[in-house]
Amino acid sequence: MAAVIRAFRSSSSSSTFTNYFIRRSLSTAASSSATPLKSESFTPLIDTKDKNVQWVFLGCPGVGKGTFASRLSVLLGVPHIATGDLVREELSASGPLSKQLTEIVNQGKLVSDEIIISLLSKRLETGEAKGESGFILDGFPRTVRQAEILDDVTDIDLVVNLKLPEKVLVEKCLGRRICSQCGKNFNVANINVKGENGNPDISMDPLLPPPQCVSKLITRSDDTEAIVSERLRVYYEKSQPVEDFYRNQGKLMEFKLPGGLPESWPKLLEALNLDENEDKQSAAV
Ligand code: AMP
Repeated sequence: MAAVIRAFRSSSSSSTFTNYFIRRSLSTAASSSATPLKSESFTPLIDTKDKNVQWVFLGCPGVGKGTFASRLSVLLGVPHIATGDLVREELSASGPLSKQLTEIVNQGKLVSDEIIISLLSKRLETGEAKGESGFILDGFPRTVRQAEILDDVTDIDLVVNLKLPEKVLVEKCLGRRICSQCGKNFNVANINVKGENGNPDISMDPLLPPPQCVSKLITRSDDTEAIVSERLRVYYEKSQPVEDFYRNQGKLMEFKLPGGLPESWPKLLEALNLDENEDKQSAAV
């Protein structure tokens, strides 16, 4: 652990915002003792007794990073930190930053690395004060620069890269609904997409809200066809290289979703060598 702290300190000269991130992330990151996965073609061996994992979820908009990351966070007892949620919290507050962020998000573009790292640092700081350790990051890093900064400050144990065909992604984004009261995500799309290039067909049943949420459903302002298509373009340009960054480190686990949540969740647990029925884990789900 001392070596990790020394590494943070020595890299803290790079820039002001990196310093901020480093200071804030320090205790969260240093509390993890999970073993980094280095081999080229690895079988993820996760010690389920040590749940202070430091994982990253990558994948195109609409692939389901939030759904799976949040379920795993409950199972493993670590916070699920979605930078998209941090951005949305910020833009719902009034102020000059909110106006600037609304414009960026509604154009399907990325917020600057500086702003995103500052938001993430604040979130880590709040978590640190509450005694959180470990994390599952969702939506960060989204550029190679963000990945390099993260790499400078801490060891990521595993990067899960979720995959779905583009047609499914678009339908999922357009069908996404959020309950404005409880914050839960639903999806009204009934997806049946024919597999292409040897890939199997994909079917996903809608994930409908319970009666108490029906009248409170809202749609994200950036889930329109035009903005989703720009977000996908930005993903391929800026975020896909992050997959290579982690692939080269032997940390990337590709996971092609076989269908909706009922089919995909058990398969994902299997791929991660996680057992949902283990004592504390089953209680948490
Ligand atoms: P998401 O909920 O992950 O789709 O994020 C919503 C929006 O927030 C994105 O389209 C970006 O404008 C912004 N955003 C979220 N995470 C990042 C990030 N790591 N870097 C830059 N912009 C981000």
